[in-house]
Amino acid sequence: MRTEFVKLNTEKCKACWKCIEVCAKNVIGRINFPWHKHAKINNPENCSGCLKCLKICEFSAYELIPKTK
Ligand code: SF4
Ligand code: SF4
Repeated sequence: MRTEFVKLNTEKCKACWKCIEVCAKNVIGRINFPWHKHAKINNPENCSGCLKCLKICEFSAYELIPKTK
């Protein structure tokens, strides 16, 4: 799952939901079943590239996508 700026590795996600709280653009949503929880990219086109999600995630679930020309 990715936006233009960040890639989310759902396998690393521990469902703390911090990235959802910091994303001002409502890009990130949740899969929230008792047996299966992780963040997901809902609205990739809204991503501004602020990288707050990447910085706040303690589990390194987000990766920066290098800029291509
Ligand atoms: S901050 Fe990281 S661990 Fe927490 S919900 Fe987001 S991706 Fe998952
Ligand atoms: S880079 Fe910023 S706008 Fe994009 S998903 Fe992360 S917190 Fe939201």
